[in-house]
Amino acid sequence: MSLLIKHGTIVTAVDQYVGDVFVEGEKVSTIGTALDIPADRVIDAAGKYLFPGGIDVHTHLDMPFGGTNSADDFESGTIAAAHGGTTSIVDFAIQFRGQTLHDAWETWMKKAEGKAAIDYGFHMIMTEVNDRIELEMDALVRQGITSFKLFMAYPGVFMLDDASIFKALMRTGRNGGTICMHAENGGVIDVLTKKALSEGKTAPKYHALTRPARAEAEATHRAIALAEIADVPIYIVHLSAAEALEMVTEARDRGVPAFAETCPQYLFLSYDNYEEPGFEGAKYVMSPPLRPKDTQDRLWRGLAFNDLQAISTDHCPFCMKEQKTLGEHDFSKIPNGAPGIETRMSLVYDGGVRTGRISLNRFVELTSTSPAKIFGLFPRKGTIAPGSDADIVVFDPEKRVRLSVTTLHMNVDYNPYEGREVVGAAETVISRGKVVVDGGQFVGRAGAGSFLKRSTRM
Ligand SMILES: [Zn+2]
Repeated sequence: MSLLIKHGTIVTAVDQYVGDVFVEGEKVSTIGTALDIPADRVIDAAGKYLFPGGIDVHTHLDMPFGGTNSADDFESGTIAAAHGGTTSIVDFAIQFRGQTLHDAWETWMKKAEGKAAIDYGFHMIMTEVNDRIELEMDALVRQGITSFKLFMAYPGVFMLDDASIFKALMRTGRNGGTICMHAENGGVIDVLTKKALSEGKTAPKYHALTRPARAEAEATHRAIALAEIADVPIYIVHLSAAEALEMVTEARDRGVPAFAETCPQYLFLSYDNYEEPGFEGAKYVMSPPLRPKDTQDRLWRGLAFNDLQAISTDHCPFCMKEQKTLGEHDFSKIPNGAPGIETRMSLVYDGGVRTGRISLNRFVELTSTSPAKIFGLFPRKGTIAPGSDADIVVFDPEKRVRLSVTTLHMNVDYNPYEGREVVGAAETVISRGKVVVDGGQFVGRAGAGSFLKRSTRM
């Protein structure tokens, strides 16, 4: 199977030029101008951008949380991702206490196999660190699971103490893995939550009011300090608060290898959404919570100046009906998370590139190249170059789309951006040489995605 994409504007993290891309099998074979090579299919991409396929390094498909499961499984979630121009995800496998990391990995492989329509890798969430787990970390790194997520929040469920976190960080200094951190001070949040509930404050907005920005900043600072002592890099997931960004910026200014991602919800939504009438605020219950509106500009600046290196989604959808309602009378029982796997590329293009906040190259870097580099997928993924996987998005920069639950493909009964109009959308999406979305229609296959064995950090 071969594919010739003609006259597109090829955009990578560093280039922008009009050219043709010839794809043979699963790889990009040749790039040039006026390529005249016979192909099984020719796509005319005149006036369109060719981006490397989006890479979303923070998704939670088919994930158990608070007695229910995130509403997208690996089939619906990856099909929605493909529609939005994302061709690789790194999801999270969870090791529950007493379980081996290997068992956790197998459990999540079973969830994905035969279902994922695009390529997928896993970070490993660890809920305990001991001698046996440390040895298992080494084995997992060799098998292509090269990053581990730890929590400083959710006491009694996921939270680790500083000693455990420090031990895991030290271990990555030996095995080349990377620690990803959920940085919020879980103890403080737990006390504030219990206090709010005892005062009869049960509405969704108290989810945000019991998770102060300073609790995120404190944990971010502590996580980076622990990594600095262990002399290893660290990656902060879903950074939401300006106060936390200051901690990352301060560390990076001193030359400390601290990396962080943010997510579209923190760039386009704000605390004000929790004030929507009735139980509507539950749509936005996620951790960390949405922050005051003026935070958005600070995060955009962080993205533009490389204090933030990636935009992922933290896609973790729960339906309003029967899922979010678990917390109708107690905000602490509202499943944490929101949908976003499908809308990331369009939102960031429209709100970032079109407004002039970030350049086109920076857009590609934040949504594909930089996550590929940080998580051991580059140069197989994250660029358009001979020898790289042919993961390519033909992106129409003029297409107007009204985001709505009625037209999006995520398996959830609401959309946090309902009614928002964006300009710029994926038109044709190619995953390892195969067209999976053709003029907006999914033409791929559940199960076509393969497990991404990732390398250690460079
Ligand atoms: Zn998450």
